[in-house]
Amino acid sequence: MLKEMYHIPDELLTAKTEDLIDILGSPTLFHLEGIDPQPLFISTLLHGNETTGFYALQKLFKKYSDQPLPRAISLFIGNITAAKAEQRRLDTQDDYNRIWPGTHFNDSVEKDMMATVTRIMQKKKPFASIDIHNNTGKNPHYGCVNILNPHCLTLASRFSNIAVYFTSPKGVQSSAFSDFCPSLVLECGQSGDRSSEAHVLQYLEDVLALDELAPHEETKLKLYHTIARVLIPKTVSLADGDSAADIQLNHDLEEKNFHQVQPGTIFASANSDKPQLIIVNSESNEDITDEYIERTGDQLVFKKPITLSMFTTNETAIRQDCVCYFMEELRIG
Ligand SMILES: [Zn+2]
Repeated sequence: MLKEMYHIPDELLTAKTEDLIDILGSPTLFHLEGIDPQPLFISTLLHGNETTGFYALQKLFKKYSDQPLPRAISLFIGNITAAKAEQRRLDTQDDYNRIWPGTHFNDSVEKDMMATVTRIMQKKKPFASIDIHNNTGKNPHYGCVNILNPHCLTLASRFSNIAVYFTSPKGVQSSAFSDFCPSLVLECGQSGDRSSEAHVLQYLEDVLALDELAPHEETKLKLYHTIARVLIPKTVSLADGDSAADIQLNHDLEEKNFHQVQPGTIFASANSDKPQLIIVNSESNEDITDEYIERTGDQLVFKKPITLSMFTTNETAIRQDCVCYFMEELRIG
């Protein structure tokens, strides 16, 4: 299933993400030479409708089409089948960012492919790994790390003054690569924003020019730790507009990502007697709903102050992933 290539085909420089399947035929791992041979690993389109990374790379490759890259790049372009459909993943597919080594998912050809990419890259001892994503909801740009070590945090602080540390879900690319190189996820706001592509391009050029990941002076990183992920059970219907359904999420929270919400704030309106309308799952996969949310009349409200990320009311995104994450600020000495 995996293809390896050693140059960027010309068509790629002008392609739309929807066209990649026709140009490449399958997920592809590119190995591109640079002045420093130790490669920077980059992955993008693990989620097919998150296009900022690809378009930023397109700009990078255009810029370096007649000059050598400062550092070698190994680039994995992932779910191009879903990209054609402009979806995160097809219903028939596993999530391409949940099936890397460490995953709890069942065996599949895609899972084998991610293990192969990991094995190939581990041998190449990458300088660092950067996986580029977008959010469905409105969020600032931020980096995510799976290990709190100085190199990962340096990599993060060069992208944004906000970073998130998470250990769940399992099977994500950044976590697999954290075993052998500094790894970061870039969360670049919503897809399709040209200024985000410019930001990622500038960041990649910045990292490509580094000789080492020395601490980045002056950037004070605001670091959060995800403590829970909020899901809606399959049996619970979600209101779209004003239709009658089991619950209706508070749309105002879409503006509250990375802000602290206070106790008493409404999470959702409930229109059902079903015992469990939402599930707050801890990082260790325990149901901690009652700790954070209580039902008062026909409303689900927050019981304690919490910071949200990735909150979305988009039902497809919710069903394929989650409503949001709950986070706490983390202070490291
Ligand atoms: Zn993503």
